[in-house]
Amino acid sequence: MFLTISTSGAAGRPATDLGFLLHKHPDKAQRFSTSHGTAHVLYPEAGEERCTAALLLEVDPVALVRKGKERGRGGAPDSALAQYVNDRPYAASSLLAVAIGSVFSSAVKGQCTARPELPGQVWPLRIEVPVLPARGGAGLVERLFAPLGWKVTARPVALDERFPEWGDSRYVSLVLEGELRLADALRHLYVLLPVLDDAKHYWISSDEVDKLLRAGEGWLEGHPEQRLITNRYLGRRWSLTRDALDRLALARLAESDDTEPEELDNAVDEAEDTAERPVPLAVQRRQAILGVLRRSGAARVLDLGCGQGQLVGELLKDARFTEVVGVDVSVRALKEASRRLRLERMTERQAARVALLQGSLAYTDRRLTGYDAAVLSEVIEHLDLPRLPALEYAVFGAARPGTVVVTTPNVEYNVRWETLPAGHVRHGDHRFEWTREEFRAWAVEVAERHAYDVDFAPVGPEDPEVGPPTQMAVFRKHDTTTKHDTTGKHDTTRTTETTKEAKAA
Ligand code: SAH
Repeated sequence: MFLTISTSGAAGRPATDLGFLLHKHPDKAQRFSTSHGTAHVLYPEAGEERCTAALLLEVDPVALVRKGKERGRGGAPDSALAQYVNDRPYAASSLLAVAIGSVFSSAVKGQCTARPELPGQVWPLRIEVPVLPARGGAGLVERLFAPLGWKVTARPVALDERFPEWGDSRYVSLVLEGELRLADALRHLYVLLPVLDDAKHYWISSDEVDKLLRAGEGWLEGHPEQRLITNRYLGRRWSLTRDALDRLALARLAESDDTEPEELDNAVDEAEDTAERPVPLAVQRRQAILGVLRRSGAARVLDLGCGQGQLVGELLKDARFTEVVGVDVSVRALKEASRRLRLERMTERQAARVALLQGSLAYTDRRLTGYDAAVLSEVIEHLDLPRLPALEYAVFGAARPGTVVVTTPNVEYNVRWETLPAGHVRHGDHRFEWTREEFRAWAVEVAERHAYDVDFAPVGPEDPEVGPPTQMAVFRKHDTTTKHDTTGKHDTTRTTETTKEAKAA
C-alpha cells in the first residue's frame, strides 16, 4: 500500500524543500510504527529539480483483526477467513489515511519551524496512488478531487490483465496533479482516501466528526459532494452525518455575511455582542416571537421543538413568563439545552419556572394542555408532510394553547442566499420549504379547522419580490365562551377527522 508525492519545487526553491515540509530528511529512509503495522518514508528521487517522497505502509493483518475485535466492530468482514484474507494490506485505504495523519502530522497542520514560509506556498504537486479502492469508480474519483483544483487521472485497474473480458476491478490507479499547498493536498487525501474506500477499519465514534471538520476546514464547506463525503467518511451513521453537515453549514454561513436560520444559532451568542454585525436572522426571529408573546399577555409558554433552548433562555429572562416548557424529540438537543441554560446550577425558584420535556409533536401529549401560548419556531419543516396533520392535531386540536406562533422559511427567499445552491433547501433536515402562498393556505385551513384566527408577519429584511427570509403566522384561539356556536360544531367534526388522520399517521 503506498503513495508518492512529487514536486519540482516552489518558485525559486529546490525541490528537496519537500523534505522540510514533510519533516522527513530526503537522505534517510525512516520507519514508523503505527497501530496497524509499519510505515516507511523514503525518497526514490531527491534532486534540486525534482523530488519524490514515498509513503509505504506494511500492514500487519493480525494486528488489524485484533484491533477490530478490541473495538467490538470494524471494517473487517464477518467470516473468520475473510478477516485475514482481504485487500487491506495491499490497497490504499483508510489505513493509509491514518498513516498520513500520524507520520506527516506537522505537514498536515501546515507547521514547519525550520522554514516557516514554506507551508503557505503553493507547490506544483503530483501524487500517485497506484492501487486505490474506489467504490463509485473513476467518475467519483474525478468528482471528489477535481473541485479541489486537481487534474485527475484515474485509470480503472483490470481484475486480471490476462483476462480482459473479466472487466475492471474496483480499484483505480490514481494520479493527481495540481498547484496546491502541501497541507491542503494531504488533508484532501486524509479525508478522501477513506471516502473512496468506503470501508473503514475502525469503529466510527463521534470524535470522527471533529477530525473530519478539522481536516476539511477550508475546502469541505464548499465541496459539491459534501454530503457524500461526510456520509461515507462517518461510516454512514446518520446522526453523525447530520451533526457534521450542520456544523459545515454553520462554518459556511459564518464566513458569508448572510445570516441564516437555525444553523447560525450556535454562532449567535458571539454575534450578539458585536453591535456592528447585522443582527442574525435567528436573533431577529426570537425577537419577533418574544414581541408577539409579550403582547399576547401569555404567562405560561411552550416552546415546541425547542432545539438547544435559545428561546427558552430568552423567555426566562423576562419575569412575565412564569412557566416556560421546552419540548423536543431529540435527547441530544435537550441535553445541550440543559447545559446552556445551566439547569443544574439554577436556584430552586428559578428551576421551578422551567422544564424540558422529551416528546414527539406527532403525538398528542397531555402534558402540553393548559398553556397560554405555544411556539413552533422552524419546526414544521422538519416533519415529513404526511406527519403534519398529526402535529396539527396534537397542537391545535389537543393542546389548544391560546396563542400559537409558527415560523418557517419562505422558500421564495432562497434565491437571495448567495451560498445556497439553486433548488436546495436551507438545512439538510428540512423535508419541505414553503412559498408564502403555501404557508398561508396551510395556516388558514388549520385556523378554520380548529377555531383559531390567524395573522401573518414577516421576519427579517423583506424583499420586494420574494418577501422575507422567514414567515410567521400568529394564531389566536377563538374565545370559546363568546364565539358563535357554528364554528364550535365545525371544529368538533373536523377535529374528529383529524384524530383519525393522526392515528393513522
Ligand atoms: N425551535 C428552534 C429549533 C428549530 S430546529 C429554533 O427555532 O431554532 C427543529 C427542532 O425540531 C429540532 O430540535 C428537532 O429535534 C425538533 N423536532 C423535529 N421533529 C420533531 C417532532 N416530531 N417532535 C418534537 N420535536 C421535533
